[in-house]
Amino acid sequence: MNFQKVRLGAGLYFVATPIGAARDITLRALDVLASADVIAAEDTRSLRRLMEIHGVPLEGRRILAYHDHSGAGARGKILEALGEGKSVAYASEAGMPLIADPGYDLGRQTAEAGHTVTCAPGPSAALMALTLAGLPTDAFFFAGFLPNASGARRSRIEALRDVPGTLVFYESPKRVAACLSDLAEVLGEDRAAAMCRELTKKFEEVRRGTLGELAAGLQEQTVKGEIVLLVDRSHSETVKDSDVEEALKKALETHSVRDAADLVSQMFKLPRRPLYQKALKLGKG
Ligand code: SAM
Repeated sequence: MNFQKVRLGAGLYFVATPIGAARDITLRALDVLASADVIAAEDTRSLRRLMEIHGVPLEGRRILAYHDHSGAGARGKILEALGEGKSVAYASEAGMPLIADPGYDLGRQTAEAGHTVTCAPGPSAALMALTLAGLPTDAFFFAGFLPNASGARRSRIEALRDVPGTLVFYESPKRVAACLSDLAEVLGEDRAAAMCRELTKKFEEVRRGTLGELAAGLQEQTVKGEIVLLVDRSHSETVKDSDVEEALKKALETHSVRDAADLVSQMFKLPRRPLYQKALKLGKG
């Protein structure tokens, strides 16, 4: 038996679950699942299965379904149990709750109501990918999933251009090719990047290269499974927006929008597309 029944104090216990390999669950997570008065989960079936794998009995406890969109009803039930001095374990479908997963509203409202909030921590795809990517880990920015629509996605990438740390994205295999090509176009093909796939699973893979290389690789071959994309910070000297704008205005006096964007892109070693859009706006003004 890998778990112990323990006396849990009243409070909410976020429980991390594996991101692939079932044995990645921690012993303490199993203790909490075995001992909590109430169990709630984003996906009741997958938690029940995980408990079965590890031989943790439900002992008459029902697993409540909860995600942040379940609304006040399901949250109310959990808060009520906490109010009665019960211990409540909550697990999302995989990895750490709240990390691109439900739990934020629940945790916040539980704390606001004055109850204890704690966690049995464990795997998270973002941290494992950072460990494997070969990119700097002194600072990183978890950006979750990028928007589906290309326009919104590019704007979001643009907003992340100068973040002084490694960028970490979650992505689906359906969108990863489009995403990498937008990343390469907006941030420049030369930025170092990595694609980490199927972490902790049989077909685990880490591809390292420039954004251009990774994007080109996915034009030739599609991939399956769960994916984390990571992108190095910009290493080009920081260029002031006002200098770029000034140069564009000057170039537009004698050049077409297209040529002005090309010129300034070469001058400052910046990607062409956002400059073209800026030049278009300036040209109209
Ligand atoms: N809470 C989870 C965590 O802590 O990593 C993330 C949940 S989010 C809904 C699911 C996304 O996480 C997937 O689409 C994928 O981008 C990433 N992910 C989860 N498991 C993964 C794995 N084994 N390998 C690579 N990426 C994974």
